[in-house]
Amino acid sequence: MLSPIIPGKTPCFRCFMPEPPSSGTIDTCDTIGVLNGITNIIASYQSTEALKILTQKTKNLIEGLLYIDIWDNNFEVVNPSKKSKCKACSDKNYEFLNRKDEDAVHLCGKNSIQINPLNKEVSVEHIMNKLKSIGVNPQVNSFFIRFEIDDIIFTLFYDGRAIIKNVTELNKAKSLYAQYIGY
Ligand SMILES: [Zn+2]
Repeated sequence: MLSPIIPGKTPCFRCFMPEPPSSGTIDTCDTIGVLNGITNIIASYQSTEALKILTQKTKNLIEGLLYIDIWDNNFEVVNPSKKSKCKACSDKNYEFLNRKDEDAVHLCGKNSIQINPLNKEVSVEHIMNKLKSIGVNPQVNSFFIRFEIDDIIFTLFYDGRAIIKNVTELNKAKSLYAQYIGY
């Protein structure tokens, strides 16, 4: 499925998915996988829709949500309407962006965990000093700091978010974050 969303104009994601499904009730790419062929199709549509938006040809955009099932050969556009009582686009209640708890999630099929911390301050100097003191030499660029400790690969973005690879337990990932990145 894909749908171009223009804030304030088109229905937002929450207009057609008002509440997230409870965890464990729907299949995910981790539990049933992804059919390889569909990812290219969706990516092609997404990048083309993005080009239309960037070149201001928005009248050519897909109106609504394009649903493609290449296994059962089903291809349709559904047109969800903008909900007048939508918590996100009409009430401006961005509860998922404003959540106050630390967030740690498994990333599908990557043997990785993403940590989205409560405290988003990243002091590059502090982290570099910390790593230097234990003899770790990180790779630094304008997007992230990456370093490896005992086969565990840390990618730390400057908004505080980190992807920790080769870890399977959420608590282990959180404690690694606290140990090497947090204060
Ligand atoms: Zn909405």
